[in-house]
Amino acid sequence: MIITTRHANALGCVSGSWRIWSLSDGYADMPANLLKEPDGRVHALPRSLDQAGAMLRLSVNCFLLIGPNAEGILIDCGAGGSWDPTMGHLEAAMAEAGIDPASVTTVAMTHTHSDHINGLLTPDGRELFTNLGRIVIASDAVEQFRAEKPLQRFAKLLAPVSDGERLADGLVAVAMPGHARGHMGYRLSTGEDDLLFCGDVIHVHAAQFARPELTWTYDDNQTIARATRIRLLRQAADAHSWLAGAHMTWPGIGRIAADGPGYAFVPVA
Ligand SMILES: [Zn+2]
Repeated sequence: MIITTRHANALGCVSGSWRIWSLSDGYADMPANLLKEPDGRVHALPRSLDQAGAMLRLSVNCFLLIGPNAEGILIDCGAGGSWDPTMGHLEAAMAEAGIDPASVTTVAMTHTHSDHINGLLTPDGRELFTNLGRIVIASDAVEQFRAEKPLQRFAKLLAPVSDGERLADGLVAVAMPGHARGHMGYRLSTGEDDLLFCGDVIHVHAAQFARPELTWTYDDNQTIARATRIRLLRQAADAHSWLAGAHMTWPGIGRIAADGPGYAFVPVA
C-alpha cells in the first residue's frame, strides 16, 4: 500500500485495484481517567499529563474504499451535528480531496455510537450521501439504529450482516465484540494487502498498542473488549495486516510490530 495523495484532512492510498482514503471528521477530547488498568484502577498517566482534568484527544476517522467498479464504500461517517463542533467535518474533508459524496453508495457502520452514524446527516441537516443504496450494520445493532429518531429516514436502507459475510469482492464483515452491541469490523483483501478496519477496538493510540490490556470505560463489556483487542493485535502483527481505526491518531492507518510485551505502531508512510 502506498500513499498517493496527502491533504490536511484526507489521505489517499492505493493497494491493488483499490483506493483507500482516510478522511478526518475531527476529534473528541475525552477525560484521561476513562483509561483503566485491568483491575479497574485509573491508568497512571505520564507525568506531563498527570493532573486533575487531563484530557486525551481522540481522532475521529472515516475510511472510504473505492473498488474496481468505482463505487464508494464508506466505513463510519462521523458525528454530523450530534456532538461537539470539533466533529462533523467529513464533508469538508471529502471536498478537500475532491471526492463527491454522491459517489458513496454504501456506508458500513462499525457500531451505532453517535460519532459513527450521525454523519449520514450534515450538521445543518442535509443528507450527505444522495446516492446511498445501503447501510451495512451488524444484525445485533439494527435495533439500536432504529431507535435513533433523527436517522429514521435511513432505516429502509439497513442491510444487516453477520460475522464472515461478504460486502463486496474482497471485503468481509468481521465481528469484533466488546465495545458496543454488534461492534463489527471489516477486512479488505486487495490481493496486495490485508486491511482490518477495526472501529473502536483501540481508543487511546498512545497507550493501548503498548498495553492492549488497558480498557476504555465506555467499552460495554471491558473483559470481552480487552480479549478482542489482544487477539486482533496478535493476528494483525502475525499476518502483517494493516490496521485502520476510528480513533487512532489521524490518519489512523498503520502496521504493528511486537515491542516488548505489547506492540509498536508504524503509520503508513
Ligand atoms: Zn467511537
